Amino acid sequence: MKRRYPPCHFCGGEVAERKVTVDYRWGEELMTVITAVPTGVCETCGEQYFKADVVKAMDKTAHSKRKPLTVLQVPVRPLKVA
Ligand SMILES: [Zn+2]
Repeated sequence: MKRRYPPCHFCGGEVAERKVTVDYRWGEELMTVITAVPTGVCETCGEQYFKADVVKAMDKTAHSKRKPLTVLQVPVRPLKVA
């Protein structure tokens, strides 16, 4: 079932549902990549919108104890700027 989205809040563009990969963050201690997330994407500016049921499902998936598809290593670096 496709979800329906209102026009883009920022530019008024049409928002269509796509499956996207989300870098999901939960505070400082949890980061996970979730694939195939149904997301409303603005056709004009690319802004993304998530429905409440999808956000709930991402929370559940992020905290799942099931074996992940794969595990990535990511570098962590402080920003150095004048
Ligand atoms: Zn837009």
